Amino acid sequence: MFGGFMELHGHVWSARGQSSSWTLLRSFKVMPGPAKMRPVARKWLAAAFLLASGEIAAADDVLFEGVRIFDGKGAELSASSNVLVKDNRIARISTDPIDAEGALRIAGNGRTLMPGLIDAHWHAMLIRVTPAEAFGDIGYTTLLAGAEATDTLMRGFTTVRDVGGPAFSLKRAIDEGIIAGPRIYPSGAMITVTSGHGDFRSFTDLPRASDGPLTRMEVVGGSIVVDSPDEVRMRVREQFMQGATQVKLTAGGGVSSPHSPLDVTTFTEAELRAAVEIADNWHTYVVAHAFTSEAVRLAALSGVKCIEHGFLMDEDTARLLAERGVWLSLQPLPEMLRQGFPKGTVQRAKADAVWPGIERAYRLAKKYKIKTAWGTDVLFSAALAKQQGAILASLTRWYTPAEALVMATGTNAELLALSGPRNPYPGKLGVVEEGAFADLLLVEGNPLENIELVADPETNFKIIMKDGVIHKNTLR
Ligand SMILES: [Zn+2]
Repeated sequence: MFGGFMELHGHVWSARGQSSSWTLLRSFKVMPGPAKMRPVARKWLAAAFLLASGEIAAADDVLFEGVRIFDGKGAELSASSNVLVKDNRIARISTDPIDAEGALRIAGNGRTLMPGLIDAHWHAMLIRVTPAEAFGDIGYTTLLAGAEATDTLMRGFTTVRDVGGPAFSLKRAIDEGIIAGPRIYPSGAMITVTSGHGDFRSFTDLPRASDGPLTRMEVVGGSIVVDSPDEVRMRVREQFMQGATQVKLTAGGGVSSPHSPLDVTTFTEAELRAAVEIADNWHTYVVAHAFTSEAVRLAALSGVKCIEHGFLMDEDTARLLAERGVWLSLQPLPEMLRQGFPKGTVQRAKADAVWPGIERAYRLAKKYKIKTAWGTDVLFSAALAKQQGAILASLTRWYTPAEALVMATGTNAELLALSGPRNPYPGKLGVVEEGAFADLLLVEGNPLENIELVADPETNFKIIMKDGVIHKNTLR
């Protein structure tokens, strides 16, 4: 499958406790760019074929036989079909037999083949750490994030949009095949204002001289404080320089920040427009965290293309988003997250104010047919991260299983594609169709009938493939 590769063998791979020998296939090949041809890009593909024998067949192609396809767009499974994967793409789909000599054949036996899942609101660096230790020892934080990234992939999430945190190194290591993990669309540091959501400084840090030193959080790229359009431009450009696919601003107060009341609109219009101008120059977009109508409206009218949360917005604001084609990235935040904020704290009071808005925001999104993305926003909780699939399944409070699964695959992929030439993975994601990236799950059962299957990926995801590489296979 790969022109000119070398193989390395080792014995450190472990997925869900199944240790097995592994092979790292390093391939060097030319990747076609989106519009203009990219220069020769060197791509390393990691392959972990979990073979009982330990013998690596390094199969050139993979042929799924007798699968029923959920394609990431429609509400029905296909008739029994065959799907051929060549390199990292879906090469052919047919109900007729596909001649694929030398391919690794996988007997589907009527199981469901579906696109890998996409979480549009993830913080890859901030799952297992505690808030206190997150940015102290950044090396340790990154290693924890690497381990979590592998678990994320093993839950069937082959792509995440990271909306805040220094995930560039992690993304690079995954793309180079150093560790297994999802594709990451990084935003880099959350950009905030003094006392905004993401400003975790204490009063002892104030006042800051305009040329004063940056805090630890800012230096490592967790979040960064700006207070003028000029500062916005500099910090936004810094994220793009490091490979951000989009940038994230916090346009209003947030739950977890100590000095950021929910009602406060944090960025001025001039500051928001400065960020949008730079993102336009880079042919991508700005994401804004915003709860209230005021913050959501100001962001949308300033050219922000995706609102995160919007839980406290009113009907008129929902209508505005629909009219302007602005995306709404919603999260069915679990009750467990709210209760995680200790009673009596300012954070708990804010969580109590926000949570009832989740239900309302989903109803408004449906009523006005707003382009809606799905994400989890798991923070600082390995236990909650394990619920990633269950949080997706909880969308059935408002959507059919098919609608929920389309949102977490084909629709989320449309949002990712807004990053234009900044897209590090030019090609189709979130769908099962010829030419798309081979990010695939083979599921025991029919998730369109029983979406709870995605809540238990360990049992029900028999095969997890990302970029044409099988990372889990329990059919052997
Ligand atoms: Zn978030």
